[in-house]
Amino acid sequence: MQRALIIGRFQPFHIGHLRLIEFAARDVDSIIIGIGSSQESNTKKNPFSAAERRRMIENSLSGIKFEIFDIPDISNNELWVSHVRKIVPEFDSVYTNAKLERRLFREAGCKVRETPFFNRGNYSGTEIRGRILAGEHWKSLVPEGTLKVMEETKGEERIRKLG
Ligand code: ATP
Ligand code: MG
Repeated sequence: MQRALIIGRFQPFHIGHLRLIEFAARDVDSIIIGIGSSQESNTKKNPFSAAERRRMIENSLSGIKFEIFDIPDISNNELWVSHVRKIVPEFDSVYTNAKLERRLFREAGCKVRETPFFNRGNYSGTEIRGRILAGEHWKSLVPEGTLKVMEETKGEERIRKLG
C-alpha cells in the first residue's frame, strides 16, 4: 500500500489544496494529511484551530482514503523531518511545491513529488483571507465542506476582527 504525505496550514482549506490532494491520490492508495502550525489559532495568519481545519478537510474530501495528524511547529529546519516522522505513520512519498519542504525531505532521503500549482492567483490562503478583509467575493474558492465550517464558526467575522 502506497501512502503520500501532504502538509499544509490550511487557513482555510481551499480548492487548491483539494486539487493537490486529488492529484496525489491518483498515484497512491492513501493520503496522510499533516495540519501544520497546529498549535496556532485566532491569529491573522492562522485564524482557525487545528480541530476546525480538520473538520474543513473531513467535510470536503470524498472517495479518497486519508488520515489527518496535527503537526505543531518546531522552529528548527534541521529537526523538521524527524519531528514530522514522530507524528505521522510511515509514508512512501511527499507531495509539495514548497521549496524548503522539498529540500528538507529530500535531504532526509524521502521521495519528493513536485506538484503543479492550481490557479494559484485565486486558490491561496493569503488571497482568500485578504478578500474577506476587503469584503470581496471568496466563497467560490473553497469547497462546500470548508464553507460549512466557516459558517458554523463565524469564520468571516473572525478573520475581519483579527485583521
Ligand atoms: P497561505 O497563503 O496562508 O500560506 P496557502 O494557500 O499557501 O496558504 P498552505 O496551507 O500554506 O496554503 O499550503 C499547503 C500546501 O498546499 C503547500 O504545499 C502549498 O504549496 C500547497 N498549495 C497551496 N495552494 C495551492 C494551489 N493553488 N495549488 C497547488 N498547491 C497548493
Ligand atoms: Mg503557504
